[in-house]
Amino acid sequence: MRPTRPDRRRLRAAARRFLEAIGEQDLRRDQARTPERVAEAWADEILSGYGVDPRRVLGRGFPARDRDLVVVRDIPFTSICVHHLLPFAGTAHVGYLPGARIAGLSKIARVVDALSRRLQLQERLTRQVTTAVMEGLAPLGVACRMEAEHLCMTVRGARKRGARVVTTAYEGAFKARPSLRAEFLRLTGSATR
Ligand code: ZN
Repeated sequence: MRPTRPDRRRLRAAARRFLEAIGEQDLRRDQARTPERVAEAWADEILSGYGVDPRRVLGRGFPARDRDLVVVRDIPFTSICVHHLLPFAGTAHVGYLPGARIAGLSKIARVVDALSRRLQLQERLTRQVTTAVMEGLAPLGVACRMEAEHLCMTVRGARKRGARVVTTAYEGAFKARPSLRAEFLRLTGSATR
């Protein structure tokens, strides 16, 4: 989770070489600013999560009045698969059982954002979300479930459009209590299909 940003200048040079390797001649003139645009999009947006510490975006939060399950559902995310550099996109659902504090409403979504805007594996991303919330908010437990469509499955390889990958990760009380996992899955299960 090291917060270093991608090198925009080197991305631009690499994009230029990538275009040269593709060898498209007819569109040469239209490509003039493409390396610059590619570098900007990847450094400033697609991979902007490298500049952000996910535990920090949680902030200080608020004192928890009770210890009931909190679920933030249907958080849209887009990430990049580390194997093919192709996007995978879908929704994340995060639940936690508060300890001393609860997070501000938008903060959990910002954790998902910080971690998904990097090169990722969906399994690892799901695990990193629970770890970041556990470390940043110190709740009694965290659950994360992510569902996504992977372009590396739809435009290459199996070419199965619509196939979705579902991953889950649990920490603390969610590991110990099957009833809590069941409650989390019930609250998040009907969101998408
Ligand atoms: Zn892939």
